[in-house]
Amino acid sequence: MNAVSPAREVLAVKYGHRVTTRAESYLNFHLYGEPDADLDIDYYFWVIRDGGGVVLVDTGFAPEAGDRRRRAHYATPAQALPELGIASDDVAAIVITHAHWDHTGNVRQFPRAQLVMTDAEYAFWTSSLAARAQFAAHCEPEEIALLRQARAEGRLTLFTGQHTVAQGIELTEVGGHTPGQLIASVTTQDGGTVVLASDALHFYEEVERDRPFAVLADLPGMYRAYDTLAQLATQPRTHLVAGHDPLVRSRFTRYASLPAAGAEASRVSVTDLTSPRASSLAPSVRHP
Ligand SMILES: [Zn+2]
Repeated sequence: MNAVSPAREVLAVKYGHRVTTRAESYLNFHLYGEPDADLDIDYYFWVIRDGGGVVLVDTGFAPEAGDRRRRAHYATPAQALPELGIASDDVAAIVITHAHWDHTGNVRQFPRAQLVMTDAEYAFWTSSLAARAQFAAHCEPEEIALLRQARAEGRLTLFTGQHTVAQGIELTEVGGHTPGQLIASVTTQDGGTVVLASDALHFYEEVERDRPFAVLADLPGMYRAYDTLAQLATQPRTHLVAGHDPLVRSRFTRYASLPAAGAEASRVSVTDLTSPRASSLAPSVRHP
C-alpha cells in the first residue's frame, strides 16, 4: 500500500449557521471580565477523498431538527456531495466524532456505509444517563436508535484510544466535550496533516485563549484535549480545523460555493495557501 493515497484532499463543508453569544458559548464567560457580544457559529461536516474512496466525517443535522432548533440549514450531505462530484454510494465509511444531533442527523442517508465511533461515546449515549436533561438536549433519540441498528447490522465499529480508518486517517479519542469525543488526523498528498478537531475545538479561541466551550461532559478532559490539539499544531505542516468556527473559511481556501444559498466548501488540506496561525498555538502559554 502506498504511504499516502494519491490526491487525497480534505474539505470542510459549511451546511448551517446561527448567531449566538459569547456568554452562551464559553463556560463561565463572566470569569473573563469582558462584555458579551454576538458570535457566529458555522455548522460543518467534512469530506476526505482520495483514489481509494470517500470518508465522511460526521453528517450534520437533519433539516427538521434544525428547523425545530432554529438553525439555518443549507444542505445535507446527500444534497451537497453531488455538487462536489461525489455520489452518495461513494461514501464507504462515516466517522462519527461524537453523537450530538448536529453531527448524527443524516447518517440515515448512507444505509450501507460502515460507521466508526468510540466505544465510550456509544456506551454513553445508549445508557440511561443520556436521558438526563443536560445531555438529552444535545441528541435526537431516533438518531441514537439508528446507531444501535447499525451495530446490530454489523456496520458499526467501536474503538478505544486510537483507530486507523485507512492509511493516513487516524482517529484519536480525546473526550472532554462528550464522553468519547474523537479527533481525526489526516495525512494528505502534500505531506501535511489536517487535524479535524470537530467539537474538541468549536472555536479556535478555545485553544488560543484557553477558554473551554460551554457544553461539556468533563472539564479536565476538555482542557487535556486542548493540550493535545495545541501540541499537534506545533508539528510541521499541521493544520487544525475547528468544528464550528467561521474562521475555517478564511484560514483555508474556498473550494466551491454550493448551489444551496449559504453552503460552501473549503479545502483544508492545501498547505501553501492561506495558512492557519499554528505559530500562535504554543502550548507553553496554556496554563496561566
Ligand atoms: Zn457540533
